[in-house]
Amino acid sequence: MSTTTASPLSKRVSSMEESATLRMAQLGREVMAQGHDVISLSLGEPDFDTPEHIKEAAKRALDAGETKYTPVPGTLKLRQAISDKFKRENGLDYKPSQIVVSNGAKQSIANICFALLDEGDEVVILAPFWVSYSAMVEVAGGKPVIVGAGIEDDYKVSAEMIREAITDRTKFILFSSPCNPTGSVYTADELSAIAKVLADFPDVYVVSDEIYEHINFTGAHASIGNCPEVKDRTITVNGFSKGFAMTGWRLGYIGAPQEIADACTKLQGQNTSGANSIAQAAGAHALNSDLGPTIAMKEAFGRRRELIIEGLEKIDGMKVNRPQGAFYIFPDVSAFFGKSDGENTIKDADDLAEYLLLHAHVATVTGGAFGAPECLRISYAASEEQLKQAVSRIAEALGRLS
Ligand code: PMP
Ligand code: GLU
Repeated sequence: MSTTTASPLSKRVSSMEESATLRMAQLGREVMAQGHDVISLSLGEPDFDTPEHIKEAAKRALDAGETKYTPVPGTLKLRQAISDKFKRENGLDYKPSQIVVSNGAKQSIANICFALLDEGDEVVILAPFWVSYSAMVEVAGGKPVIVGAGIEDDYKVSAEMIREAITDRTKFILFSSPCNPTGSVYTADELSAIAKVLADFPDVYVVSDEIYEHINFTGAHASIGNCPEVKDRTITVNGFSKGFAMTGWRLGYIGAPQEIADACTKLQGQNTSGANSIAQAAGAHALNSDLGPTIAMKEAFGRRRELIIEGLEKIDGMKVNRPQGAFYIFPDVSAFFGKSDGENTIKDADDLAEYLLLHAHVATVTGGAFGAPECLRISYAASEEQLKQAVSRIAEALGRLS
């Protein structure tokens, strides 16, 4: 009998990076399983439970027998609720037929990449960027073109930098605001400047990931889809994971030009079908209800933000940003590169994240995964007590480096 030695895996998947956020979350669990008290600040996941009234709606749906396949792009009830929400909260006009509901915003973005990209098409990604963007673009055959800004610019890319990055292969630009991993928020004026640049490139679409819209400390959330120059070619991505603490329910959605919504539905119809029926019923209820619990969660994140900024600013060598949204802080930690505690030398942010996990028992994620190798991402979606402890452990571990 002959045995094969060649890998059966496709080149596409072999060359794909594993998700660094999920890897660090898993490593944290492993160190915890060895008996260490790990504080997990790696995963971008609200530590709150899903609000009670949303759970009740799911129970009602289950009892009412809403247990069958739904239409591929989602139930009409949920798509109507999303269409109303887009209009009411964001001023955006997407008809229910232009909405596609998926198993999380992650699938929504993957759908967009597969629906729009041919081999070699380019996607301008504003960096620092969420870890899965570049991987999804690549696996769909596209080429990420990364345009980045550092802490001195509050990690925000200018409209002119985007102009420079666009070529005749550019299919769309992709970004999140509020941003994962930096917490930066593009203002309405900054978005308008980007839209004005895009007026010169009528074939370039905009994919605007607004999943953190409810966790915004600047006051109002701005959607680029409101800018007249790009109104008809903006795909707005959103979901329930962050604003409603529903990460495990797996529910996300897009509003898109009709042709693109139809293509995403066709793709999803062959890949996964409609999202979970009970989650959809709960999601429709969430959107049609008062945002009280969401606002309370945002306020708690606001208090934690102050606490983490204050704590990190006291650590010598940490260059700390002041995030305006989401629940991440993204300090520049390059001052620690080249230092050692006598046993471990920190070459880069990957080493620093590992050092903090193993020697401070605090899980974070290297900025390298987000296109910013000088940084570290710290999720502050944890209790105030845990955050205080984490800051003191980080300070102590970094204090041992010289
Ligand atoms: N976009 C951004 C910017 C994110 O941080 C995440 C992480 N959860 C997602 C999309 C995907 O969210 P989900 O699949 O849980 O809806
Ligand atoms: N989006 C979250 C994060 O960035 C959850 C993990 C993931 O899906 O990557 O940590």
